Amino acid sequence: MDLGLTGRRAAVAAASAGLGYASAKSLADEGALVVICGRDRGRIDDAAQRIGHGCVAIVQDVRDAAGGAAFIASATEALGGLDVVVANAGGPPAGNFESTPVDAYDTALDLSLMSVIGMAKVAVPAMQEQGWGRFVAITSLSVRQPMATLILSNTARAGVTGFLKTVAREVAKDGVTVNSVQPGLHATDRLLSLYGGATDGAAMGIPAGFIGDPADFGAVVAFLCSHQARFITGLQLHVDGGSYGGLQ
Ligand code: NAD
Repeated sequence: MDLGLTGRRAAVAAASAGLGYASAKSLADEGALVVICGRDRGRIDDAAQRIGHGCVAIVQDVRDAAGGAAFIASATEALGGLDVVVANAGGPPAGNFESTPVDAYDTALDLSLMSVIGMAKVAVPAMQEQGWGRFVAITSLSVRQPMATLILSNTARAGVTGFLKTVAREVAKDGVTVNSVQPGLHATDRLLSLYGGATDGAAMGIPAGFIGDPADFGAVVAFLCSHQARFITGLQLHVDGGSYGGLQ
């Protein structure tokens, strides 16, 4: 299926590795012109090289609203506008209620909530103006099913999900869709560090019996950015091999 992404201009945040990288790779393979960012020049250049198709690498930390906004401004300048944004960042540290100090919430909210708001505030109005846009945020299954040892993620991602749903309904009339994708367990550096290198999906309780492949996740993101996904907005899509046990 041709996703209609040829020549579309896309910015993917925090894409030197993991789910951001996989999303950027899928978009580039589908013909989009892609700009990515990361914090380290060597790593982000290497990622752009592997993505190919003329992918542009920018050094930018998206740890807060200003960082997110700066990335979108740079990507817009590099490509002369943006049609697609994939908002992403590294996840906040693990911890439960007892172990997590109050000031850690500020940092996590900056990283996982305010950075997305910073990106949206710059990208979405321009998309509305041009009458076409796709804004997709990578969040977490923890929105749907809070995880005991990830209280920072549980808290911040619920906020960003409410924000995105509100924006989606406000801008739908302008040809702009706003969605989030909620990863369950996927084989990335973050997963390996959180779970001590474990990769046995069946033993980890994933009904599909295997851990998610970031490339499959990237393909889902690319579909949400497609022409054909124009009637999908305000969605929170969990990609989790059946891990979530609820109905909604
Ligand atoms: P990862 O740590 O494997 O990769 C994240 C990438 O982003 C790395 O290249 C890192 O260098 C870069 N990065 C981190 N912080 C950044 C910043 N402030 N500015 C710029 N670049 C930054 O993570 P991942 O597994 O790809 O996860 C991506 C997102 O999805 C995270 O928010 C994570 O919490 C969430 N998530 C992942 C999983 C999973 O199973 N992998 C599950 C649920 C949620």
